[in-house]
Amino acid sequence: MASYKYSVYNSKNRGRSNNRGRSGGGNKRRGEYINPSRFVQAAKPTIETQYTSTNKFSDFQVDSIIHDNLTAKGYETPSAIQDQTIPLALEGNDIIGIANTGTGKTAAFAVPVINTLINKQNAKALIVAPTRELAQQIEDECRSIGKGGGFSGALLIGGTSMGPQLRDLRGNPRIVIGTPGRIKDHMDRGTLRLENFNMIVLDEVDRMLDMGFVNDVSTILDAMSKDRQSFFFSATMDTRVQNLIGTFSSNPKTVSVKNGDSSENVNQDVVRYAGNHDKMDKLHDILLKQEVDKVIVFDETQRSVEKLSNELVARGFSADAIHGGKSQGQRQRALDKFKASKTKILVATDVAARGIDVADISHVINYSQPQSYQDYVHRIGRAGRAGKLRRGSNSKI
Ligand code: AMP
Repeated sequence: MASYKYSVYNSKNRGRSNNRGRSGGGNKRRGEYINPSRFVQAAKPTIETQYTSTNKFSDFQVDSIIHDNLTAKGYETPSAIQDQTIPLALEGNDIIGIANTGTGKTAAFAVPVINTLINKQNAKALIVAPTRELAQQIEDECRSIGKGGGFSGALLIGGTSMGPQLRDLRGNPRIVIGTPGRIKDHMDRGTLRLENFNMIVLDEVDRMLDMGFVNDVSTILDAMSKDRQSFFFSATMDTRVQNLIGTFSSNPKTVSVKNGDSSENVNQDVVRYAGNHDKMDKLHDILLKQEVDKVIVFDETQRSVEKLSNELVARGFSADAIHGGKSQGQRQRALDKFKASKTKILVATDVAARGIDVADISHVINYSQPQSYQDYVHRIGRAGRAGKLRRGSNSKI
């Protein structure tokens, strides 16, 4: 299946940076000029190298509960990151995983972590992810892989009330999953003590640093048991990521399954428009195209996202909005409906859309120009992903 991205680009405003507020975004560069020619790229047909797994799940020396749960999930063959990470992690190594979202990286850390939780009663794991949505997805995956394992957990994310989190924390959870801000919040309140946590997973480290969480992440790592196993997953390995990992790990083993930017596997196009009316009409026309069946439309601010979503609904489209101004429950409901194809169009801010794992998105539309090329790559990375897992590659055309 071909995936296309449209960038709606105002040719009149060429080169003008737009610094209106965005919903969050940490220490990003603002208003970087992006030459639209960078967007206009035909998908490069990457020949998918079929990864041949050296292991079957049954080869991994893990508890039978996990084997049963993996079978129930329909996981038969390990993906590349799973195949290479799980044996090293079961030996107790620290792990650096370089992998894009959609490669199966969650189970790559969840299987060894949960195996340790089942087999060592004093083991406790903390999993940190940049966004609420990703934390929720990790929780779902861990819950299904660890079902019947006899330990409890807590999900600590912002935008949801403290009550259930405080109750779960009082139950002495052995697996805690959350976003850095809320985890830090609980540490500050004294409701989460990390000194006995001896496994840590940092997922999407590069995104966490992009979002300005470096201090929170360092504080969290400092508070953990010194005798621990650490997992770091990141799509990119720049100096910041290397420095963080260098400070907080010992002799890590690196597994890399990254196959270049997902943007390379995606058809990209620029749509020119004459004014605001024309821009909306152009968007309308694109959304009517038959092949546009599940689409994320990016805009800049919470207000503009809300307004655009309302306008699309008024025009008769099935659309919903996610942004930081909505409660976590509203965001999750919008995402669930989109995943289940009950809504066709999800209008989103960059921050709200990070880490979203929806397999069959056909199109990404940049209704506003992204702030940086990196944002652009992240935006369009929401699509062009394998409808089913592609082993060793997240590429498709
Ligand atoms: P992740 O990269 O962890 O977000 O996983 C991407 C998708 O692949 C999720 O929908 C997983 O449920 C699915 N998945 C992960 N590992 C496997 C596997 N070994 N076999 C089949 N599907 C998988």
